[in-house]
Amino acid sequence: MTDSGAFRRHAHEVADWIADYFEEVEGFPVRSQAQPGDLLAALPSSAPEQPEPMERILADFRQLIPPGMTHWQHPSFFAFFPANSSPPSVLAEMLTAGMAAQCMLWETSPAANEMEARMMEWLQELLGLPGGWRGVIQDSASGATLCAMLAARERERENTVVDRLAFYTSDEANSSVHKGARIAGFPLDCIRSIDTDEHQAMKPDALAKAIKADRAAGLTPACVVITLGTTGTGAMDPLAEIGEICRRENVYLHVDAAWAGSALILPEYRRLLNGIEYADSFVFNPHKWMFTNFDCSAHFLRDPESLQRSLSINPVYLQNTSDEQITEYRDFGISLGRRFRALKLWFVIRSFGAEGLREKIRSHIEWTRELAGEIDAAEDYELVTGPNLALITWRYAPEGASGAALDELNERLLQAINDDGRLYLTRGSVNGRMVIRFSIGQTRTEARHVRSAWKTIKKIAVTI
Ligand SMILES: *Cc1c(COP(=O)(O)O)cnc(C)c1O
Repeated sequence: MTDSGAFRRHAHEVADWIADYFEEVEGFPVRSQAQPGDLLAALPSSAPEQPEPMERILADFRQLIPPGMTHWQHPSFFAFFPANSSPPSVLAEMLTAGMAAQCMLWETSPAANEMEARMMEWLQELLGLPGGWRGVIQDSASGATLCAMLAARERERENTVVDRLAFYTSDEANSSVHKGARIAGFPLDCIRSIDTDEHQAMKPDALAKAIKADRAAGLTPACVVITLGTTGTGAMDPLAEIGEICRRENVYLHVDAAWAGSALILPEYRRLLNGIEYADSFVFNPHKWMFTNFDCSAHFLRDPESLQRSLSINPVYLQNTSDEQITEYRDFGISLGRRFRALKLWFVIRSFGAEGLREKIRSHIEWTRELAGEIDAAEDYELVTGPNLALITWRYAPEGASGAALDELNERLLQAINDDGRLYLTRGSVNGRMVIRFSIGQTRTEARHVRSAWKTIKKIAVTI
């Protein structure tokens, strides 16, 4: 197992497998057709006592694993939001695994630390985020948003106790926001879901009212999390209006742009950042729509010190030689241990170039607009929301079907599409009614995949 000649041989074989996978992934059903328990039944119930040859392990991998996977790198993956990779990103991940460094301190990995600093500066500039903010790579948007809430809590701690702190987000916020608020210790009866308007965006006046009521009741409004590009429909909470309220009320504002943030590299979408000067932090996921392997979440903070104050613990065994100039990222996140995540960003951004990234994201948005037009014009179909960047929601609505029967019909259609395997879509809900989401953004998607997906949908719809 530690024989370097054998490792070299197997590594070449694995590289070939990955290259073949990229070429052949289109041939797999996108959503795994596995049944619950399929893999469990194929795996021995106990660990082997004796070493097994890598040949056998790799053969079992080839036979058992791909059929049990949903293929996120399939060009007809239109479900959820993408979790992309790309060849440069995979190469960087292989190198990261090879060095297997634990990057908790500058001293344990100086290049990883400084690469992270520079990549966050690159992204800050590419997205047009305010200068002077500090970036850090987190494992996920969930983790970054939780950290933002901890920073918000820390800011208020001098003034009040945690069980008086109130938290606000919209009823369309990602589930991770509500979960984070609980973990950060906001009392359950002080976590507010603010109403949204007909575009699923948070209503600023409803927020202002809730803050006022909470103050009157003796609570301290501490944190607002808004979303640019909600998971359900891609809705944009009004940053500038809400930002003004937060500034006036002295409430911490965090912007969750997990998916939509990538589109900010397009100058024509910069306006989405109007009002960012009011925010305290911002997160987006290069691992969603910037062709970088999971996990890689870019978190930017105006005042990193409030987070550091909340998380910094400096026992003797972590004291080291680094100097003032160096940021110790362990004080920016939950875990002590850190992966070298910046390397894949360096590979991806250099390999695509900013223009290459823009071109890809721009075409995803363009194809979404075209598809939205087709659906809107089609007799038996209804475009429900969007296009918001590269996401639409729609439903099959043949004459005569309505209410719960229509929901049920769309549920059946969605299931039939995903069982068919040529494309993969997921559901949403708008005004309490079932919709089907169509999200374009996979690294390998081309216009032909979108067009053929639409044809497939229409063909399947008439058979259900
Ligand atoms: C995907 C998503 C998240 C969660 O991202 P993770 O990196 O998986 O934690 C949070 N917010 C929004 C708006 C998302 O779309």
